[in-house]
Amino acid sequence: MKELKDVIIQEGLPINKDVLVADSFLNHEVDAWLMKNIGQEFYSRFRKEPITKIVTLESSGIAPALMCALYFNVPVVFAKEEPHAISSDYYKETVYSFTQEELVDIIICINRLEKSDYVLIIDDFLANGDAALGLVNLIKQAGATIAGLGIVIEKSFQSGREKLLAEGIRLESLARIASMKQGKVEFIEEKLVR
Ligand code: 5GP
Repeated sequence: MKELKDVIIQEGLPINKDVLVADSFLNHEVDAWLMKNIGQEFYSRFRKEPITKIVTLESSGIAPALMCALYFNVPVVFAKEEPHAISSDYYKETVYSFTQEELVDIIICINRLEKSDYVLIIDDFLANGDAALGLVNLIKQAGATIAGLGIVIEKSFQSGREKLLAEGIRLESLARIASMKQGKVEFIEEKLVR
């Protein structure tokens, strides 16, 4: 997605070869029009799927997930990181957090997902795949179907893509970063087949 790649080049800050700070458009301040276009791009890639729900992880996945949900006209469920003020039983996965560098519990209440749901997972970044696989496993616990995973920024030099594809998950990433050496972001160029 050219608009997204241009913003990453102009505003993304590779603080080292592994971590991109995207605080001016995605992770702290949110560029609403960019998010709208991201939502539309996910919709165009998954529009043939009978999606009934979008699932993401709080908090940075919520903005792109919500925009995508408008196009599909379905609700968003975001997994919560701590089970405080939870009103019912829940599905739980323990995942390694890339940003917090520790294990965290993520939960979705059992009444938020039905067996009949056809779920599109959306998240902001894909690094080693722990967050996405945690969401996959929560949805599997509910017995719902997973249509695929939409990622805003994939760091393709980390192991997430391989792990998700090994699980048989369809993965669509809007910007795939090949490397971030010496502060320079290089993308993997892809031909998009619609
Ligand atoms: P993973 O679980 O795939 O290793 O990491 C994905 C999660 O960690 C995302 O939900 C995102 O919040 C965070 N993350 C991973 N890499 C980056 C990065 O380079 N920049 C930012 N801002 N967040 C990241």
